[in-house]
Amino acid sequence: MFDKVLIANRGEIAVRVIRTCRELGIATVAVYSDLDRDALHVRLADEAYALGGQTAAESYLNTEAILDALRRSGAQAVHPGYGFFSENAAFARAIAEAGAVFIGPPPEAIEIMGDKISSRLAAERAGVAGVPGRSEPLTDASEVIAFGEEHGWPVAIKAAFGGGGRGMKVVASPGDAADAMESAQREATAYFGRPEVYPEKYLEWPRHIEMQVFADGHGNALWIGERDCSYQRRHQKLVEESPAPDFPDEVRQQMGEASVRICHACAYEGAGTVEFLYEDGRFYFLEMNTRLQVEHPVTELVTGIDLVALQLRVAAGEPIGFTQEDLAARRRGHAIECRVNAEDPAGGRFLPSPGRIAAFRPPDGFGTRTDAGYESGDEVSQFYDNLVAKVVVWGEDRETARRRMLRALDETLVEGIATTIPAHKAILSHDDFVSAAHSTRWVEERLDLSGVTAAATAGARPEEGERRVLREVDAEVDGRRYRVKLWVPQSEAGTAVSPQAAAGSPAAKRAGPRGRHGSGGPAMGGDGKVTVPMQGTIVKVLVAEGDSVEAGQTLCVLEAMKMENPVNADRAGVVKELRVKPGDALGAGDVVAVLE
Ligand code: ADP
Repeated sequence: MFDKVLIANRGEIAVRVIRTCRELGIATVAVYSDLDRDALHVRLADEAYALGGQTAAESYLNTEAILDALRRSGAQAVHPGYGFFSENAAFARAIAEAGAVFIGPPPEAIEIMGDKISSRLAAERAGVAGVPGRSEPLTDASEVIAFGEEHGWPVAIKAAFGGGGRGMKVVASPGDAADAMESAQREATAYFGRPEVYPEKYLEWPRHIEMQVFADGHGNALWIGERDCSYQRRHQKLVEESPAPDFPDEVRQQMGEASVRICHACAYEGAGTVEFLYEDGRFYFLEMNTRLQVEHPVTELVTGIDLVALQLRVAAGEPIGFTQEDLAARRRGHAIECRVNAEDPAGGRFLPSPGRIAAFRPPDGFGTRTDAGYESGDEVSQFYDNLVAKVVVWGEDRETARRRMLRALDETLVEGIATTIPAHKAILSHDDFVSAAHSTRWVEERLDLSGVTAAATAGARPEEGERRVLREVDAEVDGRRYRVKLWVPQSEAGTAVSPQAAAGSPAAKRAGPRGRHGSGGPAMGGDGKVTVPMQGTIVKVLVAEGDSVEAGQTLCVLEAMKMENPVNADRAGVVKELRVKPGDALGAGDVVAVLE
């Protein structure tokens, strides 16, 4: 087994991995961006190395900086968590070349499963059918029409290199095909740097059911159990449970066996998840995620297996150590996970809600687990994804687990930011949840969140704590001179320069602490100023000074926590002043334009 492991990630998953390492007597190495210098994963790790930078690209996606931390720490293995570099074959190879073990599958398996078209082909080779579709990219809109005429409408146009619920357009009829294809290609290029898109039949009321698999370097591959992840918004998961309710045992068995065949077909090793859509008693391959999933804890609670410990053992060359038959005897009871995201679910909009967590009290009690990446006082940055914590419960049956989750959510206190908790309460107390009448579209189409207000969980939004700024000082340690970087409160910093000020961003021009009272939507006062409701980064500006705009017209696009938010004019006028350009970092209430 390894003596020391570097965790190339942040937030709750880094904390999750650190905990298991500690239990196994493995020393842990954290890495961090400038913004995360005091983050929980850094506080918990045995050692921590700065990657520099603020955005993901500057920090957690900076291979050289991570390799440097690996060399300096002497860690023998790297756990990539999920997201960031977890499904990046080049990173896996770079780690191996540096003489360390990448805790994940071989790079070749990552590549085969790396895009949706080649993974569909691999599943076909293993005799597992995908959603009816075409396993080659589209070149012309007429192909979409031909596909729709053959398989029926609607048709989904999906980005081959898409992920995170992005890059899919639904085409209702032949007349929409050309526009939809063009916009899918544009989006695919913008987000994933690759224009390839392909068509799939758009299933109307499917459930998303996925299978946890595990394979080792000794030829063993097992299916561990399924998770129903159908409660989604924007094609992203909110609630997951295991076992899937109202899911026949023989289908579970077939899905498990299909998943194991897929593992063998790509010479898989380590933890993986094979995703399917399930409709009318049939399941269709969607994609394979070659890493640990966010929702892995529900599988841990129903099987009693620590999946991170198993990842570490298998990466160290050990065999899995149990059989498919052993697993049947281990699965017990029911588990549910709710993702607590920094998002305001009011009106079903799920708007990003970054900011400082004024108070956080996780739930406790029998069968209740919280995997959090934050504690009271921590800042949820607009630069990373917005998962704050996962509340996971186990019960001897589904109804016990459901009631336990509602109790746990009631107990959970989060102040300072809005969270998805009110949406979770609405989902779990709905009759359709009880009777499992759900599908991947249920949250957006059937759940009524009009009565939900962010204030229910947001509490009073406190003023931001005092900003800290970077100051460099000279220090002597044992007679040797060092240049040391200190993060000090602004009031004590004297002439220190903050990174924001150095970058010249609009955020830098605001002096000192500021309020963060978002109004819930772009706001415009009587003075014609259009402001943003939340902190974020401008990714697109759609108007120029002197343009006439209509009420409701989008002036620019603000990205916060991987989500794009249009900033619209709330009345007609002429753009007198435009105060932003792409790349500007804004705070809640900042003015983007002045209209007259
Ligand atoms: P991503 O890689 O972005 O997560 P997936 O292919 O895994 O994309 O799909 C994510 C979600 O999008 C699914 O869980 C489902 O809700 C929806 N989806 C994807 N493909 C289809 C389809 N062909 N028909 C209906 N829904 C789909």
